[in-house]
Amino acid sequence: MEAPSYLSPSSIATYRDCPQKFKLSRIDKIPQPPTWATHVGSFVHEVLEHLYQVDPDNRTHDTLKSLAADRWSVSDWEQKVNALTELPGSIKDFKVQAFKCMTNLWHLEDPRETELDGMEHEVTAEVEGVAMKGFIDRFVFGDNGIVISDYKTGKIPNPKFTSEDDKFFQLLAYAAMIEAADEEPTERVQLLYLGVPVSHELAVTPVNLSIAKGTIVETREGIDAAVSRGEFPCNVTKLCDWCHYKTTGDCPAFQ
Ligand code: SF4
Repeated sequence: MEAPSYLSPSSIATYRDCPQKFKLSRIDKIPQPPTWATHVGSFVHEVLEHLYQVDPDNRTHDTLKSLAADRWSVSDWEQKVNALTELPGSIKDFKVQAFKCMTNLWHLEDPRETELDGMEHEVTAEVEGVAMKGFIDRFVFGDNGIVISDYKTGKIPNPKFTSEDDKFFQLLAYAAMIEAADEEPTERVQLLYLGVPVSHELAVTPVNLSIAKGTIVETREGIDAAVSRGEFPCNVTKLCDWCHYKTTGDCPAFQ
């Protein structure tokens, strides 16, 4: 068994949710097929990335509509959606759900007034000696530092089960990566929940940045120790009902 040489903020979140799921996905590399929800997210991300490439004055609902139609055929989304193993709705339902998320962006910001400095930006860095790699949805250089944002097309995590630290961990990890790679401070991180629509923000402070760095180091140590012992515990929770490895029988807890 070989530990991955790089970790990403999302792989760290996976290990913290369930070490066994991390092993099955990141070490055994058993693929997890896309779902309706992941496809909605990917299609929305793709269209919004193209929206921010057009001239600011042209970032209108009509442009969005034509970009969505364009990306739908260029990336063959109809075929991708039809290939899903579970289809909770029709192609029309998929388009309606995705388009609602896209137009909800206007409730969170005016795209004509928003200039982004980077999208789908790859960051590689060593954070406290841990090699990290990942992609940031979007960022801007603000007056007091970088503002990192992440589009979310799913539900807002229930605060009963997800702490604020966990909710913002991935974005704080990116802030730590940018600081390590480019020596640029991050001012704020932002979760843009397009389905709702609502934006949740957190000011980056030395304290929450240090907690995120500590989580990165602790997780790396945990993964290395788990690999050397060959032990990846199953964390059986309600979330297992959404885990691919439960249905395939790959998870030892459900064999
Ligand atoms: S089914 Fe549950 S315990 Fe098993 S890998 Fe998935 S999340 Fe972990």
